[in-house]
Amino acid sequence: MERERPAAPRPPSVDAVARSIADVALPHPLLVEAAREAVAAGDPGSARARAESIRSRLLTPVVNATGVILHTNLGRAPISSETAARASNIELDLESGRRGSRQDRLGPLLARAAGAEKALVVNNGAAAVLLVVTALAAGRSVVVSRGELVEIGGGFRIPEVLTAAGATLTEVGTTNRTRLSDYEDAVAAPDGPALVLKVHPSNYEISGFTESVPVRALGSLGLPVVADLGSGLLDSSTPWLAGGPPDWLRGEPAVRQTLAEGASAVTFSGDKLLGCPQAGVIAGSSELVERCSRHPLARALRPGSLVLAALQETVLSYLRRDGDAIPFWRMATLPLETLRERALAVARASGVPSAQVVECGSVPGAGSAPGREIPSAGVALPGDWAGLLRSFDPPVIARVRAGLTICDLRSVDPADDALVSKALGECTS
Ligand SMILES: *Cc1c(COP(=O)(O)O)cnc(C)c1O
Repeated sequence: MERERPAAPRPPSVDAVARSIADVALPHPLLVEAAREAVAAGDPGSARARAESIRSRLLTPVVNATGVILHTNLGRAPISSETAARASNIELDLESGRRGSRQDRLGPLLARAAGAEKALVVNNGAAAVLLVVTALAAGRSVVVSRGELVEIGGGFRIPEVLTAAGATLTEVGTTNRTRLSDYEDAVAAPDGPALVLKVHPSNYEISGFTESVPVRALGSLGLPVVADLGSGLLDSSTPWLAGGPPDWLRGEPAVRQTLAEGASAVTFSGDKLLGCPQAGVIAGSSELVERCSRHPLARALRPGSLVLAALQETVLSYLRRDGDAIPFWRMATLPLETLRERALAVARASGVPSAQVVECGSVPGAGSAPGREIPSAGVALPGDWAGLLRSFDPPVIARVRAGLTICDLRSVDPADDALVSKALGECTS
Protein backbone atom coordinates (compact mmCIF):
# COMPACT_ATOMS: atom_id res chain seq x y z
CA MET A 1 0.00 0.00 0.00
CA GLU A 2 1.22 3.45 -0.90
CA ARG A 3 2.04 5.72 1.99
CA GLU A 4 0.35 9.10 2.12
CA ARG A 5 2.74 11.96 1.62
CA PRO A 6 2.61 14.58 4.43
CA ALA A 7 0.58 17.55 3.19
CA ALA A 8 2.48 20.79 2.64
CA PRO A 9 1.50 23.36 5.32
CA ARG A 10 -1.52 25.26 4.06
CA PRO A 11 -0.89 28.98 3.67
CA PRO A 12 -2.93 31.07 6.10
CA SER A 13 -6.20 32.32 4.66
CA VAL A 14 -6.28 35.85 3.31
CA ASP A 15 -9.05 36.54 5.76
CA ALA A 16 -7.00 35.40 8.76
CA VAL A 17 -4.05 37.53 7.66
CA ALA A 18 -6.31 40.55 7.16
CA ARG A 19 -7.72 40.08 10.66
CA SER A 20 -4.23 39.84 12.13
CA ILE A 21 -3.44 43.39 10.93
CA ALA A 22 -6.81 44.90 11.88
CA ASP A 23 -5.06 47.48 14.08
CA VAL A 24 -3.65 49.26 10.99
CA ALA A 25 -6.06 52.16 10.52
CA LEU A 26 -7.43 51.22 7.11
CA PRO A 27 -10.86 50.10 5.90
CA HIS A 28 -11.24 46.31 5.73
CA PRO A 29 -11.11 46.01 1.90
CA LEU A 30 -7.69 47.69 1.88
CA LEU A 31 -6.42 45.32 4.62
CA VAL A 32 -7.69 42.42 2.52
CA GLU A 33 -5.80 43.79 -0.47
CA ALA A 34 -2.56 43.94 1.54
CA ALA A 35 -3.21 40.42 2.91
CA ARG A 36 -3.95 39.00 -0.55
CA GLU A 37 -0.76 40.45 -2.01
CA ALA A 38 1.27 39.11 0.92
CA VAL A 39 -0.23 35.60 0.62
CA ALA A 40 0.19 35.59 -3.17
CA ALA A 41 3.85 36.55 -2.71
CA GLY A 42 4.26 33.54 -0.39
CA ASP A 43 5.13 35.91 2.45
CA PRO A 44 2.08 36.37 4.70
CA GLY A 45 4.30 38.08 7.28
CA SER A 46 4.73 41.03 4.92
CA ALA A 47 1.03 41.94 5.14
CA ARG A 48 1.54 44.51 7.87
CA ALA A 49 4.31 46.33 6.00
CA ARG A 50 2.17 46.28 2.85
CA ALA A 51 -0.82 47.73 4.72
CA GLU A 52 1.36 50.42 6.31
CA SER A 53 2.70 51.29 2.90
CA ILE A 54 -0.86 51.71 1.58
CA ARG A 55 -1.57 53.94 4.55
CA SER A 56 1.51 56.09 4.06
CA ARG A 57 0.39 56.80 0.51
CA LEU A 58 -2.87 58.41 1.72
CA LEU A 59 -3.16 62.19 1.92
CA THR A 60 -2.16 63.21 5.44
CA PRO A 61 -1.09 66.34 7.32
CA VAL A 62 2.69 66.65 7.67
CA VAL A 63 5.07 68.89 9.61
CA ASN A 64 6.96 70.99 7.08
CA ALA A 65 10.44 71.42 8.53
CA THR A 66 12.07 72.03 5.13
CA GLY A 67 12.23 75.80 5.53
CA VAL A 68 10.47 76.15 2.16
CA ILE A 69 7.33 77.85 3.44
CA LEU A 70 5.32 77.44 0.23
CA HIS A 71 6.48 73.91 -0.59
CA THR A 72 4.82 72.72 -3.78
CA ASN A 73 5.05 69.05 -2.73
CA LEU A 74 3.49 69.92 0.64
CA GLY A 75 0.49 71.84 -0.65
CA ARG A 76 2.14 75.30 -0.72
CA ALA A 77 0.53 77.79 1.71
CA PRO A 78 -0.04 76.31 5.17
CA ILE A 79 -3.72 76.38 6.07
CA SER A 80 -5.68 75.35 9.13
CA SER A 81 -8.83 73.45 8.41
CA GLU A 82 -11.70 73.06 10.79
CA THR A 83 -14.84 71.84 9.19
CA ALA A 84 -18.16 71.51 10.94
CA ALA A 85 -20.94 69.51 9.27
CA ARG A 86 -22.83 72.52 8.01
CA ALA A 87 -24.11 73.84 4.73
CA SER A 88 -23.14 77.33 3.59
CA ASN A 89 -24.92 80.15 1.82
CA ILE A 90 -22.60 79.69 -1.14
CA GLU A 91 -25.30 80.43 -3.71
CA LEU A 92 -28.03 81.84 -1.50
CA ASP A 93 -28.73 85.50 -0.88
CA LEU A 94 -29.65 85.55 2.81
CA GLU A 95 -31.53 88.86 2.57
CA SER A 96 -33.84 88.02 -0.30
CA GLY A 97 -33.80 84.23 0.07
CA ARG A 98 -33.12 83.98 -3.67
CA ARG A 99 -30.37 82.22 -5.52
CA GLY A 100 -27.10 84.16 -5.57
CA SER A 101 -23.73 83.75 -7.25
CA ARG A 102 -20.78 82.13 -5.51
CA GLN A 103 -18.54 84.85 -6.89
CA ASP A 104 -20.61 87.81 -5.70
CA ARG A 105 -19.34 88.17 -2.17
CA LEU A 106 -15.68 87.19 -2.44
CA GLY A 107 -15.14 88.96 -5.78
CA PRO A 108 -15.77 92.48 -4.41
CA LEU A 109 -13.73 91.82 -1.25
CA LEU A 110 -10.79 90.58 -3.28
CA ALA A 111 -11.14 93.46 -5.73
CA ARG A 112 -11.01 95.90 -2.84
CA ALA A 113 -7.96 94.23 -1.30
CA ALA A 114 -6.23 94.17 -4.69
CA GLY A 115 -7.18 97.62 -5.93
CA ALA A 116 -9.12 96.16 -8.88
CA GLU A 117 -12.56 96.99 -10.30
CA LYS A 118 -13.54 93.33 -10.27
CA ALA A 119 -12.14 89.94 -9.35
CA LEU A 120 -13.03 86.36 -10.18
CA VAL A 121 -11.86 83.24 -8.37
CA VAL A 122 -11.08 80.00 -10.20
CA ASN A 123 -9.48 76.69 -9.37
CA ASN A 124 -5.79 77.65 -9.61
CA GLY A 125 -3.36 80.04 -11.27
CA ALA A 126 -3.12 77.92 -14.39
CA ALA A 127 -6.91 78.00 -14.74
CA ALA A 128 -6.86 81.79 -14.39
CA VAL A 129 -4.43 82.12 -17.31
CA LEU A 130 -6.33 79.56 -19.38
CA LEU A 131 -9.65 81.35 -18.81
CA VAL A 132 -8.31 84.84 -19.57
CA VAL A 133 -6.65 83.75 -22.78
CA THR A 134 -9.64 81.68 -23.89
CA ALA A 135 -12.16 84.41 -23.13
CA LEU A 136 -10.14 87.24 -24.70
CA ALA A 137 -8.07 85.69 -27.44
CA ALA A 138 -9.43 82.31 -28.64
CA GLY A 139 -8.96 82.15 -32.42
CA ARG A 140 -6.56 85.09 -32.34
CA SER A 141 -2.98 85.64 -31.35
CA VAL A 142 -1.34 86.60 -28.07
CA VAL A 143 1.96 88.48 -27.90
CA VAL A 144 4.52 87.17 -25.41
CA SER A 145 8.19 88.09 -24.99
CA ARG A 146 10.61 85.22 -25.73
CA GLY A 147 12.09 85.87 -22.28
CA GLU A 148 8.75 84.97 -20.71
CA LEU A 149 7.84 81.74 -22.52
CA VAL A 150 8.41 79.84 -19.33
CA GLU A 151 7.54 76.54 -17.74
CA ILE A 152 6.37 77.08 -14.17
CA GLY A 153 6.54 73.45 -13.07
CA GLY A 154 4.01 70.68 -13.09
CA GLY A 155 3.88 70.94 -16.87
CA PHE A 156 2.49 74.49 -17.01
CA ARG A 157 4.16 75.87 -20.14
CA ILE A 158 3.00 79.18 -21.52
CA PRO A 159 3.07 78.16 -25.23
CA GLU A 160 1.06 75.02 -24.45
CA VAL A 161 -1.51 76.94 -22.40
CA LEU A 162 -2.04 79.31 -25.32
CA THR A 163 -2.57 76.35 -27.65
CA ALA A 164 -5.02 74.77 -25.20
CA ALA A 165 -6.90 78.09 -25.10
CA GLY A 166 -7.23 78.06 -28.90
CA ALA A 167 -4.97 81.07 -29.33
CA THR A 168 -1.80 81.37 -31.36
CA LEU A 169 1.46 82.66 -30.01
CA THR A 170 3.27 85.67 -31.40
CA GLU A 171 6.77 85.61 -29.93
CA VAL A 172 8.67 88.87 -29.72
CA GLY A 173 12.22 89.82 -28.75
CA THR A 174 14.89 87.36 -27.66
CA THR A 175 15.49 85.24 -24.57
CA ASN A 176 17.41 87.99 -22.78
CA ARG A 177 16.22 91.21 -24.42
CA THR A 178 12.82 92.41 -25.54
CA ARG A 179 12.07 96.06 -26.40
CA LEU A 180 8.87 98.02 -26.82
CA SER A 181 9.58 98.26 -30.56
CA ASP A 182 9.43 94.45 -30.77
CA TYR A 183 5.89 94.55 -29.38
CA GLU A 184 4.97 97.47 -31.65
CA ASP A 185 6.01 95.53 -34.76
CA ALA A 186 3.89 92.56 -33.70
CA VAL A 187 0.85 94.70 -32.96
CA ALA A 188 1.12 96.50 -36.31
CA ALA A 189 1.09 93.24 -38.27
CA PRO A 190 -2.05 92.54 -40.34
CA ASP A 191 -4.53 90.39 -38.45
CA GLY A 192 -2.84 91.67 -35.28
CA PRO A 193 -2.99 90.14 -31.82
CA ALA A 194 -5.89 90.35 -29.37
CA LEU A 195 -3.84 90.51 -26.22
CA VAL A 196 -0.43 91.21 -24.75
CA LEU A 197 0.51 88.70 -22.07
CA LYS A 198 3.29 89.53 -19.64
CA VAL A 199 4.45 86.52 -17.62
CA HIS A 200 6.41 86.64 -14.40
CA PRO A 201 9.21 84.08 -14.89
CA SER A 202 8.72 83.04 -11.23
CA ASN A 203 11.15 80.22 -10.61
CA TYR A 204 14.09 81.43 -12.63
CA GLU A 205 15.95 84.65 -13.28
CA ILE A 206 17.72 86.08 -16.29
CA SER A 207 20.56 88.33 -15.29
CA GLY A 208 23.34 90.13 -17.11
CA PHE A 209 22.70 91.69 -20.54
CA THR A 210 18.93 91.86 -20.26
CA GLU A 211 16.04 94.13 -21.11
CA SER A 212 12.30 93.76 -20.72
CA VAL A 213 9.35 96.09 -21.09
CA PRO A 214 7.47 97.15 -17.94
CA VAL A 215 3.68 96.99 -17.85
CA ARG A 216 3.52 100.79 -17.78
CA ALA A 217 5.12 101.01 -21.24
CA LEU A 218 3.01 98.18 -22.70
CA GLY A 219 -0.11 100.30 -22.14
CA SER A 220 0.84 102.43 -25.16
CA LEU A 221 0.22 99.47 -27.50
CA GLY A 222 -3.54 100.01 -27.39
CA LEU A 223 -4.32 96.37 -26.57
CA PRO A 224 -5.45 94.76 -23.33
CA VAL A 225 -2.37 93.88 -21.27
CA VAL A 226 -2.72 90.90 -18.95
CA ALA A 227 0.06 90.25 -16.42
CA ASP A 228 0.39 86.70 -15.12
CA LEU A 229 2.02 87.52 -11.78
CA GLY A 230 1.98 84.00 -10.41
CA SER A 231 2.71 84.80 -6.79
CA GLY A 232 -0.16 87.05 -5.81
CA LEU A 233 1.60 89.56 -3.60
CA LEU A 234 -1.36 91.90 -3.11
CA ASP A 235 0.50 95.14 -2.44
CA SER A 236 4.24 95.84 -2.49
CA SER A 237 3.89 98.14 0.53
CA THR A 238 2.49 95.17 2.59
CA PRO A 239 0.15 97.25 4.82
CA TRP A 240 -0.78 94.01 6.62
CA LEU A 241 2.75 93.74 8.06
CA ALA A 242 3.53 95.97 11.00
CA GLY A 243 7.21 96.08 10.05
CA GLY A 244 6.62 96.96 6.38
CA PRO A 245 7.89 94.94 3.41
CA PRO A 246 10.61 92.46 4.34
CA ASP A 247 13.90 92.63 2.50
CA TRP A 248 13.47 89.35 0.61
CA LEU A 249 10.33 90.69 -1.08
CA ARG A 250 12.23 93.42 -2.93
CA GLY A 251 11.38 93.55 -6.63
CA GLU A 252 8.51 91.03 -6.44
CA PRO A 253 5.74 92.43 -8.67
CA ALA A 254 2.50 93.11 -6.80
CA VAL A 255 -1.13 93.05 -7.85
CA ARG A 256 -2.15 96.57 -6.79
CA GLN A 257 0.89 98.26 -8.34
CA THR A 258 0.68 96.26 -11.58
CA LEU A 259 -2.95 97.29 -12.03
CA ALA A 260 -2.10 100.90 -11.17
CA GLU A 261 0.60 100.80 -13.85
CA GLY A 262 -2.07 100.06 -16.41
CA ALA A 263 -2.51 96.29 -16.69
CA SER A 264 -6.06 95.50 -17.82
CA ALA A 265 -6.00 92.42 -15.62
CA VAL A 266 -3.65 90.30 -13.57
CA THR A 267 -3.76 86.59 -12.79
CA PHE A 268 -2.26 84.94 -9.72
CA SER A 269 -2.38 81.88 -7.50
CA GLY A 270 -4.23 81.73 -4.20
CA ASP A 271 -1.73 79.43 -2.53
CA LYS A 272 1.51 81.32 -3.04
CA LEU A 273 2.19 84.72 -1.43
CA LEU A 274 -1.55 85.27 -0.93
CA GLY A 275 -1.42 82.47 1.64
CA CYS A 276 -4.68 80.69 0.83
CA PRO A 277 -5.62 77.19 -0.27
CA GLN A 278 -5.28 76.28 -3.94
CA ALA A 279 -7.11 78.86 -6.04
CA GLY A 280 -6.50 81.26 -8.89
CA VAL A 281 -7.61 84.85 -9.25
CA ILE A 282 -8.33 87.10 -12.23
CA ALA A 283 -8.49 90.74 -11.12
CA GLY A 284 -8.75 93.86 -13.23
CA SER A 285 -11.15 95.97 -15.25
CA SER A 286 -14.88 95.18 -14.93
CA GLU A 287 -15.26 94.68 -18.64
CA LEU A 288 -12.46 92.17 -18.93
CA VAL A 289 -13.24 90.22 -15.76
CA GLU A 290 -16.92 90.04 -16.79
CA ARG A 291 -15.96 88.59 -20.16
CA CYS A 292 -14.10 85.88 -18.25
CA SER A 293 -17.07 85.28 -15.88
CA ARG A 294 -19.47 84.88 -18.80
CA HIS A 295 -17.33 82.35 -20.66
CA PRO A 296 -18.65 78.77 -20.33
CA LEU A 297 -15.22 77.63 -19.14
CA ALA A 298 -15.69 79.74 -15.97
CA ARG A 299 -18.21 77.20 -14.69
CA ALA A 300 -15.80 74.33 -15.27
CA LEU A 301 -12.97 76.11 -13.47
CA ARG A 302 -14.85 77.45 -10.47
CA PRO A 303 -13.73 76.67 -6.91
CA GLY A 304 -15.76 74.90 -4.21
CA SER A 305 -17.12 76.26 -0.98
CA LEU A 306 -14.26 75.06 1.25
CA VAL A 307 -11.80 77.05 -0.81
CA LEU A 308 -14.04 80.10 -1.03
CA ALA A 309 -14.56 80.09 2.75
CA ALA A 310 -10.82 79.91 3.46
CA LEU A 311 -10.07 82.53 0.83
CA GLN A 312 -12.68 84.86 2.30
CA GLU A 313 -11.13 84.51 5.78
CA THR A 314 -7.73 85.40 4.38
CA VAL A 315 -8.98 88.37 2.37
CA LEU A 316 -10.76 89.72 5.47
CA SER A 317 -7.44 89.45 7.32
CA TYR A 318 -5.78 91.49 4.58
CA LEU A 319 -8.51 94.12 4.84
CA ARG A 320 -7.98 94.21 8.62
CA ARG A 321 -4.26 94.58 7.94
CA ASP A 322 -3.68 91.57 10.15
CA GLY A 323 -0.82 89.65 8.56
CA ASP A 324 -0.35 87.61 11.74
CA ALA A 325 -3.69 85.94 11.05
CA ILE A 326 -2.30 84.55 7.77
CA PRO A 327 -0.05 81.56 8.48
CA PHE A 328 2.29 82.22 5.55
CA TRP A 329 3.01 85.83 6.61
CA ARG A 330 3.25 84.89 10.27
CA MET A 331 5.90 82.29 9.46
CA ALA A 332 7.74 84.39 6.89
CA THR A 333 8.18 87.36 9.23
CA LEU A 334 8.96 85.60 12.51
CA PRO A 335 12.09 87.22 14.02
CA LEU A 336 15.27 85.17 13.87
CA GLU A 337 15.70 85.48 17.63
CA THR A 338 12.35 83.78 18.26
CA LEU A 339 13.36 80.93 15.96
CA ARG A 340 16.70 80.51 17.75
CA GLU A 341 14.88 80.24 21.09
CA ARG A 342 12.45 77.69 19.68
CA ALA A 343 15.31 75.70 18.15
CA LEU A 344 17.11 75.59 21.49
CA ALA A 345 13.96 74.40 23.24
CA VAL A 346 13.32 71.74 20.57
CA ALA A 347 16.92 70.49 20.73
CA ARG A 348 16.77 70.23 24.53
CA ALA A 349 13.38 68.56 24.60
CA SER A 350 14.52 65.97 22.06
CA GLY A 351 17.02 64.62 24.59
CA VAL A 352 19.49 63.93 21.77
CA PRO A 353 22.98 64.96 22.89
CA SER A 354 24.17 65.55 19.31
CA ALA A 355 21.21 67.81 18.43
CA GLN A 356 22.46 71.33 17.78
CA VAL A 357 20.93 74.69 16.97
CA VAL A 358 21.94 75.87 13.49
CA GLU A 359 21.38 79.01 11.48
CA CYS A 360 19.94 78.29 8.07
CA GLY A 361 18.12 79.98 5.22
CA SER A 362 14.40 79.56 4.59
CA VAL A 363 12.83 80.50 1.27
CA PRO A 364 9.29 81.67 0.46
CA GLY A 365 9.05 78.91 -2.18
CA ALA A 366 6.64 78.17 -5.04
CA GLY A 367 8.72 80.31 -7.40
CA SER A 368 8.11 83.46 -5.33
CA ALA A 369 11.06 85.83 -4.84
CA PRO A 370 13.49 83.43 -6.57
CA GLY A 371 17.02 83.43 -5.21
CA ARG A 372 16.06 85.21 -1.97
CA GLU A 373 16.63 83.67 1.46
CA ILE A 374 15.04 84.47 4.81
CA PRO A 375 17.51 84.02 7.68
CA SER A 376 16.26 81.22 9.90
CA ALA A 377 17.20 78.78 12.63
CA GLY A 378 16.61 75.11 13.20
CA VAL A 379 17.80 71.93 14.83
CA ALA A 380 20.40 69.72 13.18
CA LEU A 381 21.40 66.10 13.76
CA PRO A 382 24.53 64.59 12.25
CA GLY A 383 23.64 61.99 9.61
CA ASP A 384 20.67 61.45 7.32
CA TRP A 385 17.46 60.88 9.28
CA ALA A 386 15.08 62.28 6.69
CA GLY A 387 13.55 58.90 5.76
CA LEU A 388 12.93 57.95 9.37
CA LEU A 389 11.41 61.36 10.15
CA ARG A 390 9.03 60.88 7.21
CA SER A 391 7.80 57.62 8.73
CA PHE A 392 6.49 59.34 11.88
CA ASP A 393 2.85 60.07 12.50
CA PRO A 394 2.51 62.88 11.53
CA PRO A 395 5.45 62.71 9.14
CA VAL A 396 8.16 65.32 9.70
CA ILE A 397 9.72 66.54 6.45
CA ALA A 398 13.29 67.72 7.01
CA ARG A 399 16.16 68.66 4.75
CA VAL A 400 19.58 67.02 4.52
CA ARG A 401 22.61 69.14 3.75
CA ALA A 402 26.34 68.56 4.16
CA GLY A 403 25.80 65.44 6.25
CA LEU A 404 23.30 67.12 8.59
CA THR A 405 19.57 66.55 8.90
CA ILE A 406 18.07 70.01 9.49
CA CYS A 407 14.62 70.82 10.81
CA ASP A 408 14.12 74.49 9.90
CA LEU A 409 11.54 75.84 12.34
CA ARG A 410 10.40 78.82 10.25
CA SER A 411 8.02 76.64 8.26
CA VAL A 412 6.83 74.75 11.36
CA ASP A 413 3.82 75.94 13.34
CA PRO A 414 5.04 76.52 16.93
CA ALA A 415 2.24 74.19 18.08
CA ASP A 416 4.13 71.40 16.28
CA ASP A 417 7.52 72.02 17.92
CA ALA A 418 6.84 69.26 20.44
CA LEU A 419 6.21 66.80 17.58
CA VAL A 420 9.57 67.73 16.05
CA SER A 421 11.37 67.17 19.40
CA LYS A 422 9.67 63.84 19.83
CA ALA A 423 10.45 62.66 16.31
CA LEU A 424 14.10 63.69 16.64
CA GLY A 425 14.35 61.95 20.01
CA GLU A 426 12.77 58.76 18.75
CA CYS A 427 14.71 58.48 15.56
CA THR A 428 18.05 58.39 17.32
CA SER A 429 16.98 56.20 20.23
C1 LIG B 1 2.62 79.44 -10.20
C2 LIG B 1 2.38 80.14 -11.46
C3 LIG B 1 1.34 79.75 -12.31
C4 LIG B 1 0.48 78.56 -12.04
O1 LIG B 1 -0.30 78.74 -10.90
P1 LIG B 1 -0.96 77.46 -10.18
O2 LIG B 1 -1.73 78.03 -9.06
O3 LIG B 1 0.19 76.61 -9.76
O4 LIG B 1 -1.80 76.78 -11.19
C5 LIG B 1 1.15 80.46 -13.46
N1 LIG B 1 1.93 81.52 -13.77
C6 LIG B 1 2.94 81.93 -12.98
C7 LIG B 1 3.77 83.09 -13.40
C8 LIG B 1 3.20 81.25 -11.80
O5 LIG B 1 4.21 81.66 -11.01
